[in-house]
Amino acid sequence: MATGTQMHQGAIDIHAHMLVPEIFKLTKNYGLTSRPIENEAVSEELERSNAERQDRMAEISYDTVNRVKLMDEMGVGVQVLTCSLVHQCTYWMNPEDSLRCEQLANNRMAEAIKASPTRFRGFGGVPLHAPMLAVQELERAVGELGLSGLQIATSAAGKEIGHKDFHPFWAKAEELGAVIYVHPAGNHDARFKPYFQWNSIGQSFEEAMAIASLMYEGILDKFPKLKVCISHGGGYMPFNFGRFNRNWLEKPSTRVNMKQPPADFLKMLWYDSCLYDAGLVKRLVEIVGEDRIMLGSDYPVGDRKPVEFIRSCGLTTQQGDKILRGNAETFLGL
Ligand SMILES: [Zn+2]
Repeated sequence: MATGTQMHQGAIDIHAHMLVPEIFKLTKNYGLTSRPIENEAVSEELERSNAERQDRMAEISYDTVNRVKLMDEMGVGVQVLTCSLVHQCTYWMNPEDSLRCEQLANNRMAEAIKASPTRFRGFGGVPLHAPMLAVQELERAVGELGLSGLQIATSAAGKEIGHKDFHPFWAKAEELGAVIYVHPAGNHDARFKPYFQWNSIGQSFEEAMAIASLMYEGILDKFPKLKVCISHGGGYMPFNFGRFNRNWLEKPSTRVNMKQPPADFLKMLWYDSCLYDAGLVKRLVEIVGEDRIMLGSDYPVGDRKPVEFIRSCGLTTQQGDKILRGNAETFLGL
C-alpha cells in the first residue's frame, strides 16, 4: 500500500481538502456556503459572485491530479487529503446513505493516493452519527484502504465528540493507531449567518467546543494512546484556557472526568498552523510547544504561500522545520 512508498521530502500540509462530485451534488444544499445569505445588506450581485466562487473552489477540489503542480508552486511536498466537511458533510443523511457516501469518498481518496503515492496521504470520513457504522468504516479505511486516519466534524447528531456514544469509535481509533483530525462542518446557528460569521467566528468556536468536550469527558485519559489534531490552531481554546484553568481550580464539578489541568491537556493534542496571523502561531508554540503544530494551508481556500507564512512567524529555523515537516512525520507515524 501507499504507506510503504518513499514520500516527497518537502513540507507536509495536513489541512488540504478535496471533494467528490457525486457526493457534493447531494450535500451542496445542506452546506453553509450554498445557503442564501441572510443579510439584507448583501446584494444579489455579491451572492452571485459567492456562488461562482464556490463553484470554482469545488472544481479545484475535485482535482487530485493537476493539483500537484500547484503544490510545487506552494512549496508543499505532501498533502494529507480530507474532504471539506463544510461542503460535503453527510451526518444529516440516514446512516446507511451516509456510510455509502463516506465509503465512496474514502475509495476516491485511496485512488488519488495510489496514483501519486509520493505526494498524498489521506484522512478518510465516517458516518460518526452512527457510531457502530463509523467503527466499521474506520477499520476498512485504515486497514483495507491504507488511509492514515480519519477526519471527523466537531459534533454529530447534536452530540459533542466526547459523548459516551462515541467512546467505541475512540477506542477503535486508539486500538488501530488511527490518527484523528477534527475539522468543523460549520455552525448552522442563525446568529453566525450574517457576514460569514459562521466562518470568521463559528469555526473557531466549534474547535473550542471540540477541545472542551475531549477535555471534560476525559477522552485522552480513557484512551491515552490516541493522537488527535484540531484544525485552525485549535480555534479559540489555546488562547482562552485561563478561564478553563480557573473553573478547573474553583469548580470541582468541571473536573470529574479530567485527570490534569486544562493547560496540560492542551499539550496532549496536536494543531495545524492555519491561523492567518504570524503572531498567533508564535503564541501557539509558546502555549502548546513546538512539537505539536503542523503546517495547514486549508487548500484550496486558504493560504497559497503557507511555507513562507511559517518562516515569517519569528520562529527558529528548527521550530519552522518541525512545523513544516518533522511534527507531521511523528503524527502520521512515518
Ligand atoms: Zn478546512
